[in-house]
Amino acid sequence: MMTTTTTIKTVHDPVIEQFVELFGKRVKTDAHLSRYTSARVGGPAELFVTVRSVDELQTAVETAYNHRIAYFVLGGGSNILCADDGMKGVVVMNRAKNVRFRHIGAKVICTVDSGMSLGMLARQCIDNGLGGLEWAVGIPGTIGGAIVGNAGAHGGDIDSVLRAATIWEPGRGARIFSNDELKYKYRDSLLKREQGRDISRRVVLSAEFELIPESIKVLTERAEAYETKRKQSQPLGASTGSMFKNPDNLYAGYLIDSAEMRGASVGGAQISEKHANFFINTGNATAEDIRELVAQAWNTVRDEFNIEMELEVEMVGEWRLE
Ligand SMILES: Cc1cc2nc3c(=O)[nH]c(=O)nc-3n(C[C@H](O)[C@H](O)[C@H](O)COP(=O)(O)OP(=O)(O)OC[C@H]3O[C@@H](n4cnc5c(N)ncnc54)[C@H](O)[C@@H]3O)c2cc1C
Repeated sequence: MMTTTTTIKTVHDPVIEQFVELFGKRVKTDAHLSRYTSARVGGPAELFVTVRSVDELQTAVETAYNHRIAYFVLGGGSNILCADDGMKGVVVMNRAKNVRFRHIGAKVICTVDSGMSLGMLARQCIDNGLGGLEWAVGIPGTIGGAIVGNAGAHGGDIDSVLRAATIWEPGRGARIFSNDELKYKYRDSLLKREQGRDISRRVVLSAEFELIPESIKVLTERAEAYETKRKQSQPLGASTGSMFKNPDNLYAGYLIDSAEMRGASVGGAQISEKHANFFINTGNATAEDIRELVAQAWNTVRDEFNIEMELEVEMVGEWRLE
């Protein structure tokens, strides 16, 4: 067995001391990432810090960058599969949640910090009679994760409602990116495509959404219909949501099901009986169990249908490769 090599510098004591000076007790050296991911897997973070504002988020990643230490912004942890051996460098848990609304003509612009929950923002907009994000009710995770992955459902997505985002770039600082610059595609963006693994990750600080005033009753009914559909089609249990992107004109779940992988399991990981693109941690799965099951599904679909599915979920951390 070969362990993945890494060029990542480990976090030395003076750096830890600097983080403690900046963030106090919100710095941890013993945080287990399984507590912070929706699949409930993932090993220890070398250094773990929780930030509560956009300024703190920028300070945390800038500090890591200045020391040439790998950093990773963790939102809701609902679109990542984190290795059992955990993550090197600094994991920054983003809890910056400020939300502001302002009118521009008939439209309303919502400016929101990237650590805000996407689902909670969608609800807040509905309660204020603002349309555009109803599709997002029930999607776990933060605005930052949604902007990176172009989250979407029920025909809506981030691309259709995002006006601009303020993004910090390593070595360059923060600037506003227009929607066009983010070059959105299905569950994909410039940020996701160009995400460096170590110290070159861009960081979403905040976002501006363009919303349209609409009746609260209409918005509520629309969101309720979406939620009902979600409950009918998606399984309960710890998962990362859809594991694979849907190939053109096909559904990944249909392919996995047709390859007779529905219900298949490795250790504590199981392909859901209800939705074959959901890989469930039935209680004691390791990240390696899930990775192995993902590999089996991918290989079986390729062998049966000659289709190479693409992961929607990002594999992060220190994976051991045979
Ligand atoms: C039950 C379930 C249902 C789901 N349903 C849907 C669905 O209907 N539609 C859909 O699109 N997705 C769905 N998902 C997937 C997931 O919820 C979304 O992809 C979500 O937008 C991920 O956000 P997050 O904050 O959890 O990202 P994380 O998993 O924390 O991070 C994902 C990536 O984004 C990066 N990132 C996070 N925040 C920032 C930031 N501020 N700046 C830079 N990079 C950042 C991370 O570093 C990582 O690379 C579902 C997941 C689950 C578990």
